[in-house]
Amino acid sequence: MPELPEVEVVRAGLEPAVTDATVTGVEVLDERSLRRHDGPVEDFIQRLIGARFAAPQRRGKFLWIPVLDDGDPGRVSALASRRRPEMVVAPSSSALVIHLGMSGQVLLRERAAARDRLTRVVLEVRHPEHGPLRVDFVDQRIFGSMALDHLLPTVDDPDQWIPSQVAHIARDPLDPRFDDRAFLAALGRKQTTIKRALLDQTLISGIGNIYADEALWAARVHYEQPTATLRRARAVTLLAEVRLVLGRALAEGGTSFDAQYVNVNGASGYFSHSLNAYGRQGEPCPRCGRPIVRESFMNRGSHFCELCQKLRVARPLS
Ligand SMILES: [Zn+2]
Repeated sequence: MPELPEVEVVRAGLEPAVTDATVTGVEVLDERSLRRHDGPVEDFIQRLIGARFAAPQRRGKFLWIPVLDDGDPGRVSALASRRRPEMVVAPSSSALVIHLGMSGQVLLRERAAARDRLTRVVLEVRHPEHGPLRVDFVDQRIFGSMALDHLLPTVDDPDQWIPSQVAHIARDPLDPRFDDRAFLAALGRKQTTIKRALLDQTLISGIGNIYADEALWAARVHYEQPTATLRRARAVTLLAEVRLVLGRALAEGGTSFDAQYVNVNGASGYFSHSLNAYGRQGEPCPRCGRPIVRESFMNRGSHFCELCQKLRVARPLS
């Protein structure tokens, strides 16, 4: 499943092409790709045609393109704002939410380019500078989807809006408003283990199996360490390693296996060459040389070094 770096690569690639572009045509080739759209296919098409896009946004693994409310006086909300306490005007009231699922790809194409066999939804857009373009949603396994959704103000910033389908997702660690102290405090309170906590998108978003294993390896933390017994200094180190690994993966265009996670031009990222633990079972740990082990975990696997990442038992005070 694409994680934060792979989704950010897609968002950044879409930004110059779709920001300020107007949708001129919509074709739904497979209705299953609209399963998260609350309405019939015709509704999806009618609401999108003529819509003008704002800059694509992301939180964790979720991507959306706000639709500008042209000619609309703006949606008024009863939420507090300093200048006009009785109303806040949203810049847009709806967004096209793109779930990449397991294998979803968003590809930018020339209008007349050939279509991929697994294309599910096609958007034709016209950009004021770049002219006509095609945005193809390609999805092999159809776990991904496109949906029009309404925007809600975020709980911690009434001036920032988020699709209702994404509202329950926590901020990701690359978000400037991510609250480190609140996250560390939550870890101490939770009755869970550290990898489960890292994968809990309502606690911290954007991390999946690959980057959880990599950050845990870098911070020398066992994946089954109970969060309540994780020392604060180590938790701080772990959060720093999470940010480092996400940042490095982003700089290398994300991690691509089987050419599945690609940027908007169809190119793969290079980070799979930089992995230390994930998918490296049997290979020597780059730190100590002992073979990396894979254990089954939540229907997938956990990759770690038994020597560098020991389960630390809390010593009873006596
Ligand atoms: Zn090791």
